[in-house]
Amino acid sequence: MSRDGDRLSGTGRPVKGGRPGLTRVRPGLWSLPIPLPGPPGHVLVYVLETDAGPYLVDAGWDTEEGWGALAAGLKALGTRVEDVRGVLVTHSHLDHYGLAPRIREASGAWVALHALDAVGLSQFRSDPALRLAALLRRAGAPEEAVTRALDDLGRRPGVDAALPDRHLADRERPEVPGWDLTALWTPGHTPGHLCFWEPRHRVLLAGDHLLPRTTVGMYEPRDDNDDPLGDYLGTLEPLVSMEPDLVLPAHEHHYADLATRVGELRHGHATRTAVAASALREGPVTAWRLAGRLRRSGTLEGLRGFPLRATVSRALVILAHLRRLGAAREVPGPPPHWKATRRLEQCEAGFFNG
Ligand SMILES: [Zn+2]
Repeated sequence: MSRDGDRLSGTGRPVKGGRPGLTRVRPGLWSLPIPLPGPPGHVLVYVLETDAGPYLVDAGWDTEEGWGALAAGLKALGTRVEDVRGVLVTHSHLDHYGLAPRIREASGAWVALHALDAVGLSQFRSDPALRLAALLRRAGAPEEAVTRALDDLGRRPGVDAALPDRHLADRERPEVPGWDLTALWTPGHTPGHLCFWEPRHRVLLAGDHLLPRTTVGMYEPRDDNDDPLGDYLGTLEPLVSMEPDLVLPAHEHHYADLATRVGELRHGHATRTAVAASALREGPVTAWRLAGRLRRSGTLEGLRGFPLRATVSRALVILAHLRRLGAAREVPGPPPHWKATRRLEQCEAGFFNG
């Protein structure tokens, strides 16, 4: 899927098939795909070569296959997991953070994460079924839909992830010899998501913030002040104005034209927000019902598992954004639902203009 740069497998031969191989994106900067057990198939770990040993941006999912891919990739670069000096993690999700504690154990490397996402790691300890049920009930899902979603989830234990050694704040410059990295706090996908900017190479290491094809989900709003979508939209213009030559996302493939991609993303979010606004104008609505309207089919029929959860969460995120704009308010229920305020119409013109 990579479009330029050298493309090597562990043996130096080009990779066949859909999965990208180890790819040089800049001198001394490599993209190393780590397989994931499900979609989107792989996470891209970026390896920064230094005289002291490699530094990584993101770590990959903690499976034996992932660990093997990391070890093989580093070996192809003439180094080893044991030589890693530092791991900069873009956010707490386990496809990015998962292997970091194991790398630290093998190498003594430090592991860095934004403080808000370090706190967020504790969420993985709690029972996934309890979290899913809480989301669906808050969205006003019918009880039989909650039961079915829990059946689909099956029994899965929580994951106890070891904490990072360091917290990285906005604009902080982590010490990576020979590289001029700046951490950029880019909340939205998670509360403490980080991108990394390298001005000499004009590359933006973007984590899950700006994927080339997929519109990523936002964190679930936890209280009345949370507006993950508003936070996210607020980060976009400053990133575009940096004019990166290359965006290095943690999934899919790297790409050059950030301004165009941000335009597409803004348009998509504005369109969905406009759908929510017109639903509210018709009367009170649950997040569950709005989630259906946000789909092309107009219904949640046939949707199961993670896609169902992501769609419901997206509806809640848009409603929380409208609340922050003063256009909607949440009514406890039962079922919990949302109502328009007088400001809705005033706000609506803006969504249609993107
Ligand atoms: Zn991810």
